Amino acid sequence: MAFDVHAARAEFPILARQVHGKPLVYLDSAASAQKPRAVIEAMSHAMEHAYSNVHRGLHTLGNEVTEAYEAARRKVAAFIGCDVGEVVFTKGGTEAINLVAAGLARTLKPGDEILLTQMEHHANIVPWHFLREHWGAVLKFAPVNDDGSLDVEGFQALLSERTKVVAFTHMSNVLGTKNPVRELTRMAQDAGAQVLIDGCQGIVHGPVDVREIGCDYYVFSGHKLYGPTGIGILYGKAERLAALPPYQGGGEMIGTVTFDEITYADAPHRFEAGTPPILEAIGLGAAIDWLGGYDRAEIAEHEAKLYRRVREALNGANWLRVLGEAEGKGAILSFTVDGAHAHDVAQILDRYGVAVRAGTHCAEPLMRRFGVTSSARASFALYNTEEEADAFVDALTRTQAFFA
Ligand code: PMP
Repeated sequence: MAFDVHAARAEFPILARQVHGKPLVYLDSAASAQKPRAVIEAMSHAMEHAYSNVHRGLHTLGNEVTEAYEAARRKVAAFIGCDVGEVVFTKGGTEAINLVAAGLARTLKPGDEILLTQMEHHANIVPWHFLREHWGAVLKFAPVNDDGSLDVEGFQALLSERTKVVAFTHMSNVLGTKNPVRELTRMAQDAGAQVLIDGCQGIVHGPVDVREIGCDYYVFSGHKLYGPTGIGILYGKAERLAALPPYQGGGEMIGTVTFDEITYADAPHRFEAGTPPILEAIGLGAAIDWLGGYDRAEIAEHEAKLYRRVREALNGANWLRVLGEAEGKGAILSFTVDGAHAHDVAQILDRYGVAVRAGTHCAEPLMRRFGVTSSARASFALYNTEEEADAFVDALTRTQAFFA
């Protein structure tokens, strides 16, 4: 059966609300997606029926919630095709990248190089800048072509025996570009580097098999994947996690502690100091289960159709500049409107009930690369409809007329 957007949409209570007297048209899912009832209910069910701290309980609630928490880890492992011990719960994609960067910092020597791309989110730039500032690492940025695709030859040219870490996004949160992650991973590993992929956007729009990609680390956030905030995933190859120093110290990540010394627990618990985001992990597990009820290829086609519809409707708009038109891109439309600041565009669109993001999208270097200080961004998710795509085009056309 083909993907039924109206049935899927009905599972998101918030999408029934109005904004300024108009039906909400939520086109900000790249920042954070809305949550289906299955996620909301899984979290409240846990709070109402089996809540306690995890891993400590000798009592029933403790055992039940620990089982639910570890079941979520198994769901994530199955979802991305790895072993359960290779899944670390973090509080988000950002923390997952910081965890890896902080650990690798202790293995680098001054002058070691870290290769990123010009299309990275700050979450995949700033943690590496820390390594530049404090450990003498050298950062390189692979160039982006004018159409928003990665310059793969330029990427390869920056790899050398000095390159120790290569980190790049699976899908740009601004341009919508989907990178050839397998090819880039091979190139980087052939040069002897470890590879981290920022999958915060990529995993939302298609299946991910980390073994097939072959990367050393893959990170993503729960809240963009129709799950809750406060939960992220670090996948790390077992041998990488075994060699990575711990990130934070505290309870539950140790083997033994004495006044003189400590030993650490094995991964993944070694990286989960303190009380973890229990309910959030359960919510993410529910989101993964829920997504499993759909054919992801059909969802991807649905989103691509929405993007094409909007793009074609705006084809003749000579007042519009679109950032990122790479082949095979995902359903993210970043744009500027001549004569109007992106923030003003977003505010006027909001009067029509249309929610878009405006600003630098935490990708300042990329904005500079394209010669703009900000852009507006409409991002589509599985629950958006063709009527909403049309409502956006209509509202944007009216917004532009306001400034003309
Ligand atoms: N990378 C990309 C590509 C993103 O879009 C985001 C979220 N905007 C992040 C990393 C950071 O994710 P979080 O804020 O959930 O930690």
